[in-house]
Amino acid sequence: EDAMKKLAAGNWKMNGNRAALAEVSALLSAHPAPGCEILLCPPTTLLAEMAGLATGSALLVGGQDCHAKGSGAHTGDISAAMLADAGASHVILGHSERRADHGERNELVRAKAEAAIAAGLIAVVCLGETEAERDAGETLAVIGAQLDGSVPAAATGSQLVIAYEPVWAIGTGRTPTIAQIAEVHAFLRARLTAHIGAEAGKTRLLYGGSVKPSNATEIFAVPDVDGALVGGASLKAADFGAIVAAL
Ligand code: PEP
Repeated sequence: EDAMKKLAAGNWKMNGNRAALAEVSALLSAHPAPGCEILLCPPTTLLAEMAGLATGSALLVGGQDCHAKGSGAHTGDISAAMLADAGASHVILGHSERRADHGERNELVRAKAEAAIAAGLIAVVCLGETEAERDAGETLAVIGAQLDGSVPAAATGSQLVIAYEPVWAIGTGRTPTIAQIAEVHAFLRARLTAHIGAEAGKTRLLYGGSVKPSNATEIFAVPDVDGALVGGASLKAADFGAIVAAL
């Protein structure tokens, strides 16, 4: 089996309109044969059109959330099967902004991840400590509990991606030290192994939080960092392309 390729994942959050898809075309023409996998998770309104642009390229597309149920009376929600039908291969789940803005808890994140996997999607499960939790020395306890509560018991390694995103590093320009990232990623690999055994070796562990072209190279060199989840710097082809090139 080939060594696991790294994954450069972009989360557009609630940004971007159809005109912004020009950034995707620019990214694909600048990086026709990247050495890593590339995933972009646009707002749902752009998913199908972005998937069309991605056809025949190295680009994968994903959703930013899904409902835990397959269909039904849930106004405003989107199911995992609908994301797959629109061309998604992945879905981000349990992002700290969903946890904060929508009160999502581990149990719900796990139910969504199970639904995503059942629909054939790869579940990109996000976790991370707040600044107060890090200052209190609770980082590993917090993310260990998030992993235990959010990861489906029956998943195979490649059906999952885990993104470590310290809440205090998201959109702030601040990042943990290299030693802090290494400590958490080694911990996550071991904790995931306790859940799914050797399959955990096939799960990409992404670092997320203020990744940009200037810090990507040193972060990607950290053991057990298998790529990045990128917010702000994924919106522009030049920035995201520089991160892709660093992987
Ligand atoms: C994110 O929210 O997933 C993220 C990492 O954001 P940023 O890169 O903007 O810090």
